[in-house]
Amino acid sequence: MTGNPALSLSIDLKAVAANYRIISSHLAEGATAAAVVKDDAYGLGMTECSRVLHQEGCRFFFVATLDEALAFRNNFPDWSVAVLHGFGGAQTSATGKVYIQNNLIPVLNTLHEVHLWQSAAADAESVQPAILHLDTGMHRLGLSPEEFRQFEQQRSGFSAIRFLYVMSHLACADEPEHALNETQWQNFYHTKTQLRDLPGCFANSAGIFYDPKFHFDLVRPGAALYGLQVSPRQPEMQPCIFLTAPILQIQNLKKGDAVGYGATWHSASDQTVLATIPLGYAHGYLRSCSSRENGNAFVYCHGIKCPVVGRVSMDLVTVDITAAAEQTKCGDMVEILGRHQTADTLAADAGTIGYEILTGLGKVAPRRYNEI
Ligand SMILES: *Cc1c(COP(=O)(O)O)cnc(C)c1O
Repeated sequence: MTGNPALSLSIDLKAVAANYRIISSHLAEGATAAAVVKDDAYGLGMTECSRVLHQEGCRFFFVATLDEALAFRNNFPDWSVAVLHGFGGAQTSATGKVYIQNNLIPVLNTLHEVHLWQSAAADAESVQPAILHLDTGMHRLGLSPEEFRQFEQQRSGFSAIRFLYVMSHLACADEPEHALNETQWQNFYHTKTQLRDLPGCFANSAGIFYDPKFHFDLVRPGAALYGLQVSPRQPEMQPCIFLTAPILQIQNLKKGDAVGYGATWHSASDQTVLATIPLGYAHGYLRSCSSRENGNAFVYCHGIKCPVVGRVSMDLVTVDITAAAEQTKCGDMVEILGRHQTADTLAADAGTIGYEILTGLGKVAPRRYNEI
């Protein structure tokens, strides 16, 4: 650290906590909220976010991979954590030993994984917890209806497994009009009935705000915790991520001057003022934020909206700050995410979703917490 102005990513953990409270206050009676903290809590920091969520009363966590779960376990010896990718494609029950040694809960996505977990638990002469994942129409992970029929027939052979939840995942909950939502709910409800009293775990963020009948016993929000607006039915969440960058250089351009790789943008006047900031696709600022014929992304310079011009490069972005030139000098900070722009609005300009912005920008170091 040199003390020079630098790219700065701040995470507001109080906002993460507030979002957990907002979600919890919307749940149907009997339902509680887990937290999905996979991929370093969508770039906000798994350890820091998990700690504050636990303080808010969260008692169940989901990560994607076994490695993430081991990192989680390192920090939190006792908290319940389930692994969405289950055995991760492993073909032997050796992976199961790692789960058992570390007190981790696999999400079982295939009948084969159910068998692997049964043998690992039986080998350890123990009964081990698991979550059974059914595919209700997304065709990404989970037991197919045919596999579920076989599961039911073989059920008595799984005596070393204690199923905590039956879960499924929604494909279209961010589109309330989509017919697949109701179809998936029907499939889930029907299967859950066959499993008698097994608690259900169904809704992601958008599913939570879709309809209370989607809540069952445990909901699995990720995005909403981190401030994303994923559903038109969702109340306003608190933004959690603030990113600023210093201006490295300011230039006055003449009409026709070219900017950036490929010389894709040209100054339209002799008055253009251009600023260069140390941010780029290496930090997760997407190349699709570059200026194109039909649009571009923006940054805010002293609160004034300024367009990105030319191509985003690996660690530099050029911005037309003409509108803010009078009050701006080298070293001033521009806002990429913050009071004026959320991950969702930046995502819309870049042709993607807020999830990709958050997980991408999570690579910016160092992260600071609650220093906003
Ligand atoms: C990532 C994920 C979630 C969280 O989804 P959000 O849309 O971020 O709330 C829930 N369930 C599964 C299976 C996931 O993969």
